[in-house]
Formats: sequence, structure tokens, C-alpha cells
Amino acid sequence: MHAPTPPPVPPLPPTWRRVVVKIGTSSLTDEHGRLHRPSLWAIARGIETLCAAKRCQAVVVSSGAGAIGRERLSLSLPLTLPEKQAAAAVGQALLMLEWDRALAPRAVAQLLLSVSDVQDRERYVNAKHALEATLRLGVVPIVNENDSVATAELRVGDNDTLSAWTAYLVDADALVIVTDVAGLYDADPRRTPGARPVAVVHDVASIEGVQERPGTTRGTGGMATKLRAARIATRAGIETIVIGPGGASLEALAAGTVQGTRFLAAARTTARKAWIAEQPSRGSVDVDAGARAALARGTSLLPSGVLSVVGEFGFGDAVDVTSDGAVIARGLSNYPSDAMRRIRGLRTHQIESVLGAKDFDEVIHRDNLVRLERGDSMPPR
Ligand code: GLU
Repeated sequence: MHAPTPPPVPPLPPTWRRVVVKIGTSSLTDEHGRLHRPSLWAIARGIETLCAAKRCQAVVVSSGAGAIGRERLSLSLPLTLPEKQAAAAVGQALLMLEWDRALAPRAVAQLLLSVSDVQDRERYVNAKHALEATLRLGVVPIVNENDSVATAELRVGDNDTLSAWTAYLVDADALVIVTDVAGLYDADPRRTPGARPVAVVHDVASIEGVQERPGTTRGTGGMATKLRAARIATRAGIETIVIGPGGASLEALAAGTVQGTRFLAAARTTARKAWIAEQPSRGSVDVDAGARAALARGTSLLPSGVLSVVGEFGFGDAVDVTSDGAVIARGLSNYPSDAMRRIRGLRTHQIESVLGAKDFDEVIHRDNLVRLERGDSMPPR
């Protein structure tokens, strides 16, 4: 049975400043996991066409290193972790070589990121500088996860999520995810006859979880990670478009005739606030109704509004702010958890007498605080 074709994506802005294009393993390899050069070259042409049409710079997030390396080394599945690391190291070089040829005369730059590059503020800024510098020089950054050294708990885990982070890093206008299913359906089109395509999603949070389904045979993502990426990106004001496979889809996107799903973005938040919202929470701070109302007006959190403190966290760690059992905000704490416990409920002028010093009036400054919708807690990483 053939799933109905999605309607064209509604008209996009005529120009973008920057776009992140994410290409999955299944778009770059054949059924044996071998690098499929014609596909990569067609995608490279599609990226060029899109950039010319939208007058934008592109950052590419390219998967495929693991699969290509595995094939090059004739390793059969399952692989041990060290073998996977070796395969990624070998495949990454081959992948870059091909991107360099396909995008010539432009130069390409390899940027291998890991979780600490998006979670650690200093590393985040460093990665941002590297990306900015390459873009200024007219180079196309090709991003992948640093799979040779980033293992298990250090990994972002999938390149859909990584592409959303990359879109933050470069402050992109749009994130385009090229995949083998042309967008989102209201059920799995490979299993459910009559599954209907969804052209526009206004609020990705409202459908996330409903769409869990396995990934393709060669990629790691599936629709669940695409929705996650769309949530991360749209929350920061970066619209996300999931389109079908190959260079032809990118050409169609440039021409305004592409089929797929467009996830509309929330009002653009600053990248820093979006970054805070995505930090793993180290604990939580429960606040009273007065503080809750004050936070809703956009003020900082003062110790007087804190009822209780849960967990162990340090200065600068991300914590949830809860009220009546729901997470209402996330922020970076100005005080470690033990100090916060000692000053909870106090007026700011009492902080010094209790702690011996007062570095801040606020326990979380409004610049480091992001309000979340009710119950919108982050998935654990
Ligand atoms: N970073 C992995 C690779 O290059 C791919 C991860 C993914 O497919 O999401 O093989």
C-alpha cells in the first residue's frame, strides 16, 4: 500500500540567513551500509541550490561515519564498543573526503561535537566561535558527534538531537531534516493503511510521545528523535522542516514545492535561554504562590519565595522550579543546594548573617530563568 503523499509544505520565508541541514545515515548509504556517492553528491547539489535560493549559509550535520567505517573494515554486527569507535574514526575520514569533493570549490570543515560541547557553557561558546569562524570564511561546516571518544553517557546519542543543538549554536533560522519518510504521519505509514500526512505542526509538544516508532534500519533516529529535535529547535524560535530523502527534496524545498512537515517555531527566545531550558536538572526548588506569580511576571526568584529544596546541586547548575507539584521554570542557581536550604524563606538582607556573605540577592536571576509550560519537564538524557 502506498501512503498518501503529504501536501506541499506551506510557503516558507523567501530568505534565511542560516540553515542547518541534517542528513541521516540512510540518505548516504546503500542497503549494505556502503557510502552511496551519487546520493551524497545529489544532496550536496541540493544544499547549494537551497543556499542560492534562500541566500543563506548552510551548516551540514552528517551521519554515516559509523556505517561507512564498518563497511570499510568489513566488520559484521554486533560490534563491541571499541570496534564502533574505530569504525566511526575510519568512516568519518571517508565521509569528510566525500563532502569535500562534492561541495568543491567550497572548503568543508569537520566539527565533531559531544555532549559537553552543548552542556558546558564554556565549551558551548568555544564551539560557537569555531562555527562562526568557518562560516565567515565561506567554509561549509560538517558536524557529527564525536563517536570515537564520546561513549554512552557522554553522547548526545542521535544526530537529530545534535542537529537541533547545532541550530542553536549557529543561531539558524531553520533546521531541515532530510530523512527517508517524507515528514510526519498521524500513524506509521509503513504499517497503518490510511495514515495521513501532517503538513504543519503548530505545537510539537502536543504530539510528542504519540509518534514513538522505530528508526530506519541504518539510522538511529526514527520519528521520535525528529520530534525531539523539532521541540528543541522550535522552542528557540527555529522552525524545523522534515522532508523526504535525497537531493531532490532539497531542490524542491528551494523551489517551494517540497512535501513534508513544517514545525512552526515559538517566539524566538535567546539562544542562552533555550540552552538553559534544555539543561539536565540537578535538583528542584519548590516555591510559594507569591513567587510563582512573580515569576509569571518575569522577575527573579528570591529566597523568600523558596519553600523547599530537593537534590544536591552546585553554583551555576540547572534546577527545576516547581509549584504545586508541577515544573514551572528552569534556571541556573546562584547558590549551591546546601546554602539554598539555609536561606530559604529569608529576606535578602538576612542572607549575609546566615551564610557569612551575600554574593547575590536572587537565588535565580531572571536572565538565567526560563519559564516552562505546566508539566513540561525535560526527558532525562
Ligand atoms: N553519529 C552517527 C554516525 O555518524 C550517527 C548518529 C545518527 O544516525 O543519529 O554514524
